[in-house]
Amino acid sequence: MNTAETLSQYVLPTYGRFPLVPVKGQGAYLWDDAGNRYLDFCTGIAVCSIGHCHPALTGAIQAQAATLIHVSNLYQIPQQAELARTIVEDHVQLPGKVFFSNSGAEANDGLIKTARRFGHRLPQASGEARYEVITFGQSFHGRTLGSMAATAQKKVHEGFDPLLTGFRYCPFNDLDALESAISPITAAILMEPVQGEGGVNCITPEFMRGVAALAKKHDLLLFFDEVQAGFGRCGETMAWRAFCPEIEPDGISWAKGMGGGFPIGAFWVSDRLIDAATPLSSLMNAGSHGSTYGGSPLACAASLAVLGVIHREGLAAHAAAMERYIRDAFSRWDHHVLTALRGKGLLLGFSINAAAIPAVEGKTVAQTLAAKLMARGLLTVPAGPETLRILPPLNVRKDEIDDALAIIRLTTRDFTNEL
Ligand SMILES: *Cc1c(COP(=O)(O)O)cnc(C)c1O
Repeated sequence: MNTAETLSQYVLPTYGRFPLVPVKGQGAYLWDDAGNRYLDFCTGIAVCSIGHCHPALTGAIQAQAATLIHVSNLYQIPQQAELARTIVEDHVQLPGKVFFSNSGAEANDGLIKTARRFGHRLPQASGEARYEVITFGQSFHGRTLGSMAATAQKKVHEGFDPLLTGFRYCPFNDLDALESAISPITAAILMEPVQGEGGVNCITPEFMRGVAALAKKHDLLLFFDEVQAGFGRCGETMAWRAFCPEIEPDGISWAKGMGGGFPIGAFWVSDRLIDAATPLSSLMNAGSHGSTYGGSPLACAASLAVLGVIHREGLAAHAAAMERYIRDAFSRWDHHVLTALRGKGLLLGFSINAAAIPAVEGKTVAQTLAAKLMARGLLTVPAGPETLRILPPLNVRKDEIDDALAIIRLTTRDFTNEL
């Protein structure tokens, strides 16, 4: 049996997979089992943020794996302490505390639990706890029962009723709708500064500012899901700063790019006081939350290596510069097939003119285009049915971008010719 056959025999069929069998990666390149080379602008869905097998990451994993892999949170873990310190001091740059998980969904579950604690501590006038978290249309927050319920997409919920209660969905970037959705049971607002899975939709700065003002007015927690957008991806250390740098959130979740491929997630909770003497971060006290694997010496050593490269090499600023470079090139294209470019930093999405792509049974136009690009040696990721997403490594070079854009142009020209 080949890999595809073995997978279909023994692995639950939850994924629609491309036929590609990657076997090796280096920097922005990936090789398949037939020796073909691909320019990787998928990066494992924004995970391999410093490219494949960066020597700093590979070296850190090798050294830590040879020394101590796991001990549990029963003990003091120096790598976890140092990783939390650098996240707070060098990246978030606001006083707060971090909890380490193993994935983005778990990180969001942690924020949801923080909102519940907050709603118990500062209840409704009746004395009953507040508990509702408002999220937004086309959002994606994960696949656990909590983060799935937070996700405002029907297709993610299908067949899993009854969902966890305590969520309310509002249209994205619609402040009036949000204002009328806030009620005595509301405890928090959770949003992605750039919706990744939902189609690469940017928040508007006016909306973000308005949400922050409403959160303050109604004493709600303001949470950002930066699982895909954080740690340099959007051209700033933290994604929200690419929109409204003056805003101070109450909680942030991360995963994907922070481990460079080693599984790790985290959430941060602000130290701000919620009454005369209670820091918000103190609500998640001893015994309130936990993870056996979370924050192991190996995971933290890997993440320290990745965040160190991002910080020392100024990769957030590089991502912003590469966005300008890509937008400049795109502005000179004809826009028959790819009609617009959305996103921030190196979380970018091209809108596809669906009429320009021949329909393929059971495939979205984004999947069809991604498959054509793959055949020419470029890996991209669909985001929703009609958006082609590119997620290059944050240290991608200009010549690699030139090559990728040339493949995209050539491929879209084919479609134009077929029209
Ligand atoms: C990928 C993603 C998640 C879920 O992360 P997992 O590690 O797959 O659990 C949550 N939120 C956003 C914005 C994501 O892009």
